[in-house]
Amino acid sequence: MQSKSEFPFFEDDSEARLRTILENHLEEARQRAFSLIREAREDENGCLVTDTAKPRKVRFRGHQWEAYRFIHCVLNEVAASRDHVVRHRCHERTCINPAHLEIGSQADNKRDDWANWAYGVDPDYL
Ligand SMILES: [Zn+2]
Repeated sequence: MQSKSEFPFFEDDSEARLRTILENHLEEARQRAFSLIREAREDENGCLVTDTAKPRKVRFRGHQWEAYRFIHCVLNEVAASRDHVVRHRCHERTCINPAHLEIGSQADNKRDDWANWAYGVDPDYL
């Protein structure tokens, strides 16, 4: 049922793919996210890091994701668009600890306002 490479719009196949996952494959995706977390190593800062120089990628349902983005979106059930970046509060790019990840808009200076408005949370609150 997948209509690959048929997205008629320039906009956001990443968001559409995420939405499909959240709607149809959530449990499978969660299992995948948890297994990535289990495979990671906890460092002295509480980061769950992978032993790779670059952020780890994960393949799921025919598409490759950055593991941290995948984990954040799946566990929080957020279909992030390209305008939204998943950030590391801990500034450790390979960290996949869900508690260290937050989503923000590309417009950096608007980020806090946006998060407050969208989620009702203060992004600086730990
Ligand atoms: Zn971290």
